[in-house]
Amino acid sequence: MATLSVAVVGSGPAGLYTAEALVKQAAALDPPCQVAVDVLDRLPTPYGLVRYGVAPDHPSIKSIAEYLRGVLERDDVRFVGGVRLGGEVTREDLLGCYDAVVYATGAMRDRRMGIEGEDLPGSYAATDFVNWYCGHPDTDSGSFTLDAESVAVVGVGNVAVDVARILVRDPEELRRTDVSQPVLEALMASKVREVHVIGRRGPAQAKFTTKELRELGELAGVDIVVGAGEADPGAFDATGGSATLAESDRRVRGNLAVIGDWAARAPAGHARRLLVRFWLRPVRVEGTAHVTGLTVERTRIGESGTLTGTGELETIPAQMVLRSVGYQSVPLPGVPFDERSHTVPNAEGRVLGPDGNPLPREYVAGWLKRGPTGVIGTNKSDAAQTVRALLADLCPDGVRAGDPADPGALAALLAGRAVAPVSYADWLKVERAEAELAASLGRGARVKLPSRAEIDARCRGE
Ligand code: NAP
Repeated sequence: MATLSVAVVGSGPAGLYTAEALVKQAAALDPPCQVAVDVLDRLPTPYGLVRYGVAPDHPSIKSIAEYLRGVLERDDVRFVGGVRLGGEVTREDLLGCYDAVVYATGAMRDRRMGIEGEDLPGSYAATDFVNWYCGHPDTDSGSFTLDAESVAVVGVGNVAVDVARILVRDPEELRRTDVSQPVLEALMASKVREVHVIGRRGPAQAKFTTKELRELGELAGVDIVVGAGEADPGAFDATGGSATLAESDRRVRGNLAVIGDWAARAPAGHARRLLVRFWLRPVRVEGTAHVTGLTVERTRIGESGTLTGTGELETIPAQMVLRSVGYQSVPLPGVPFDERSHTVPNAEGRVLGPDGNPLPREYVAGWLKRGPTGVIGTNKSDAAQTVRALLADLCPDGVRAGDPADPGALAALLAGRAVAPVSYADWLKVERAEAELAASLGRGARVKLPSRAEIDARCRGE
């Protein structure tokens, strides 16, 4: 029986759930269809956002990597690290080497606020800060020194919660996590005393999930303060829509209960404070040589239902601004891309060409398919849908359609270009080095290596 060979581009949750769905769904066909999946990643390390997005103090979410490891250890799945679509290989190369290609590269770019002063030193994308504390190979471990006493975080989603928590949490509590040693030392030396988390709409419209939000109020040594009058979901909403939202959505009700509880708390006089603010939109990042503050404008939802500025301004003193206003996917060379939704146009995972018809043998999964929404688990059902479409096209009635691709084609192509991809066995050398480093530092189970150069050296067995 000929094997269906598939390249999945991206080894984050979307890519690995796709690989898993491919082998499982193909095996369940009658008769079963045999598949071989190569999971490519531009980085030498697998697991994408599970490794470089999930905060180090969220070990239960991080343990999803253990589940995904099981996918990479299957005989019919292969990790091909250090190979970038648009770098070492092109779309045409992949279509030439495989029966089908699934793009699952996520959302790598931050969105911008589009306000004056956004590029001043001290103003960053939250994603840069996340990359730093997660030890992303593209980010220098010395790129953040936490000299600011006050930080403004713009946006009220779960990334804002993550960065605010890492900024105010006692760094001693991170000693047992996998944060790299230079990052831990920078957090230990942090001067941050105050973090302002700022929403342009009200608490009912905030994107937080309740579990993540509640955790913020449970941090030892941190006072949590809600802006005066801002916990009331209807205070700045002339339509009454905020109250309706609370009635219809359990998550919103949960968030309002948490925020209401915080508003009723008396500050205990702790050394670190977290201020949660609503109905304030960013207008300007202040400063000349460096950030000195963030000017915001009070907003309200008018009778027409639109959010408007009231003209009432406030400048929040801050020496660091983190915009946590969402992620965006980036186009892949040669692959169709909708510049408005920042996704690959698709129908149930089938990539659509400019004429709106599916392009043969090309599929998409994860944030690149649906935008940066949902939790990690959302990618499982999303990947399953893409794989159903792929197998219906290429393995109708369990019988593999068309001429089989050569299973060694990519290896030969890379060898011809003097590219040595990182194998799963190479990656395991990095894992071992992380465990050894943790033991030598007397820290937890593993500590991330502090640089790309060190990761590359371990992969080469040095
Ligand atoms: P998000 O949930 O979409 O939140 C983005 C926030 O930015 C919203 O509050 C949005 O407000 C605000 N915003 C957008 N443009 C703005 C502007 N120009 N000025 C001011 N505010 C602006 O995005 P995210 O926090 O990056 O999270 C991305 C995804 O990852 C989400 O699905 C999230 O749940 C998930 N995630 C999950 C976890 C976890 O489960 N622990 C951790 C991290 C991330 P508006 O609503 O007014 O637009």
